[in-house]
Amino acid sequence: MRFILLLSSFLSLLLQATTSLALPQQSLVPGGIAMINLNRVDKTPQFNFRGKPVLINQQNGRYVAIVGLPLSLKAGEYFIEGHWGNETALEKNFFNIENKEYSTQHITIKDKRKVNPYAKDMDRILREKKRKEKARNTYDKAVVDLSFLQPATGITTGSFGRRRVFNGQARRPHSGMDIAADKGVPVIAPADGTVIELGDFFFSGNLIYIHHGQGLVTLFAHLSKINVNIGERVSKGQVIGEVGATGRVTGPHLHWSLGLNGTWVDPVLFLN
Ligand SMILES: [Zn+2]
Repeated sequence: MRFILLLSSFLSLLLQATTSLALPQQSLVPGGIAMINLNRVDKTPQFNFRGKPVLINQQNGRYVAIVGLPLSLKAGEYFIEGHWGNETALEKNFFNIENKEYSTQHITIKDKRKVNPYAKDMDRILREKKRKEKARNTYDKAVVDLSFLQPATGITTGSFGRRRVFNGQARRPHSGMDIAADKGVPVIAPADGTVIELGDFFFSGNLIYIHHGQGLVTLFAHLSKINVNIGERVSKGQVIGEVGATGRVTGPHLHWSLGLNGTWVDPVLFLN
């Protein structure tokens, strides 16, 4: 009896240890993540940030809201807003974010059409933009595993958020992490999920979107090969494609983006 009690308390300690390890790293800056401890346990919380549902994880019996902070945010006070179970009373939880200066990166692209597309490319680009927005804003109420694997072996550079200038022209900031690797290096699913979008896109080349649940979305771009199908369930560590140099690139690498509540954040916060 005593042994069983000891064993069960050991197992629950082990369980707590593994679940508490799974949280991403908080970074209260544009492009970072806010982690907000919610103060109740009796009902299921539902909270939004700027109108979009946020991921809520249970850690050691407590609820934690994990909020993606858009790169476009200014320093200041923000809040998530929501309610508990079927109660109508709204609750606000406030947090502050600081400014972060991201550096500027100048890039030369040989294929000038990828910097200044032809008029006939615009239809395709707009269609793809809508598909990307839809994929980035996917949401369901699944339970999410937050312990992520790096999706490819290679050299990572902290280039998320860099302002970018292509062939002397300013473009949108870098919305992911680049992992330098040779063509053909396997790309794996960093966690369990469902393939929600894929194809050959003008700027991103061959891409795959995976939804891991509750709006946690990952994107893999510039692939040479796609090994999965739309709607396919993938498991953590499964090979989903291969590194390539398709789309707007200077050479082979994996572009990896990670989204929460419809916004891209620095994927490095989900590693380690
Ligand atoms: Zn990139």
